[in-house]
Amino acid sequence: MSFEINESCGVFAIYAREDDVAKLTYYALYALQHRGQESVGIAVADGQESVMLKDMGMVSQVFSERDLQSLKGHMALGHVRYSTTGSSFWENSQPIQVPRRGGSVYVAHNGNLINTDELRGQLQAQGVRFRSTSDTEVIAVLLARSDADDVVEAAKEVMPMLQGAYSLGVMTEEKILGIRDPYGIRPLCVGKYMDGYVISSESCGLDIIGAEYVREIAPGEMAIIADGELRFERVMEARKPSLCIFEFIYFARPDSVMYGTYLYHARKHMGMSLADEAPVQADVVMPIPDTGVPAAIGYSQASGIPFGEGLIKNRYVGRTFIQPTQAIRQLGVRLKLNPLVRDIRGKRLVVVDDSIVRGNTTKEIVKMLRDAGASEVHMRISSPPDRFPCFYGIDTAIRQELIASSRSVEEIREFIGADTLHYLSMENLVRATGRPREEFCMACFDGRYPIPVPDEMKMAKCRLEAV
Ligand code: SF4
Repeated sequence: MSFEINESCGVFAIYAREDDVAKLTYYALYALQHRGQESVGIAVADGQESVMLKDMGMVSQVFSERDLQSLKGHMALGHVRYSTTGSSFWENSQPIQVPRRGGSVYVAHNGNLINTDELRGQLQAQGVRFRSTSDTEVIAVLLARSDADDVVEAAKEVMPMLQGAYSLGVMTEEKILGIRDPYGIRPLCVGKYMDGYVISSESCGLDIIGAEYVREIAPGEMAIIADGELRFERVMEARKPSLCIFEFIYFARPDSVMYGTYLYHARKHMGMSLADEAPVQADVVMPIPDTGVPAAIGYSQASGIPFGEGLIKNRYVGRTFIQPTQAIRQLGVRLKLNPLVRDIRGKRLVVVDDSIVRGNTTKEIVKMLRDAGASEVHMRISSPPDRFPCFYGIDTAIRQELIASSRSVEEIREFIGADTLHYLSMENLVRATGRPREEFCMACFDGRYPIPVPDEMKMAKCRLEAV
């Protein structure tokens, strides 16, 4: 259930001499808003000076027209954040700015380091005082403290010190860098915009401003934009490519392209495979909006059962800073979804969703559909059971909270109250991506973490095993 998984972050950077880079970044962050709704920031630079504006909230809440007009320059770095490392407060919002060689270095990060404590401890021992609790500040401080004159050389020094997932946008008064960790866990791509260039977590960030997709930054590679030129440098040897499979299942927008595939098409394929793996007699195939839509269309096409929308999403609930009253909180999933009772009453439903995390939301939805008069509810999930937590920048849950970590599929079916439940097989999930299994991190399903996770970290998130 996508409502239960929180994405980590979105990164965007642009170099464009003849355009309003702050406004372009604003629109790109709008397109990347699904990757984080807690805070947003834009820094701009003009070759000599730089300035930044960031705050808690969503893109539309934070920036006014006047704010954007005050951000002048020909380079910009933007970020939308959902907290994974470090809690939710202003100091942790990004980009993170640190003084460097008479100017500034700004860092925007998608991912999660697994050696933050160690690096932070080393820096604190050298007298560094941190303003935030985020791993991104550690990266920014390392870049700032490098003896290298050039930020490109500084980044080359720092990259080997970092362990974990990092797709970074880095900006100084002169240059923009796009950096991807040697495993390529989080996405990052490059586009061409007019006479300049763009870096974005997803290609949808390019589309919204009319930039042309160039290519993904390869694992271990750095894209350097300076003086209107783009070049790539391989900094670290690429390890086993391990793009997070959840980008394909749910995180990224369906109109984004990864590994050369529209995610919409991959998700539709997942639904088609679900129909092959778990056919059922039913009247309607309906998605949990919005993320279940492509897979539900695929299921419908493969099974011949008509597609229908039975749940309407309130698109504007999002993240609000107004605390709901107890009475409103009790409405639970009804705050986000409302059933079309007349379309559901007496119907046998196939309900397609992308995942089940804790199971409580799915249980509420099944109950809501039954209360609306559904005669049967058959849940179909376009991913395998989610059994292991993420250490690379996705806030799912600790292992103990993941329902599939301790219950069988039949027990989960019973818990959520569905008539039948089926999860897509790993084999068909991988087939839907069009790429080999070896190119993905699928640790949520099989516990095989591509970057070894320190035991203390594992114990903290896997209390089930520790007791
Ligand atoms: Fe993605 Fe799961 Fe791997 Fe994290 S552990 S990167 S969520 S597949």
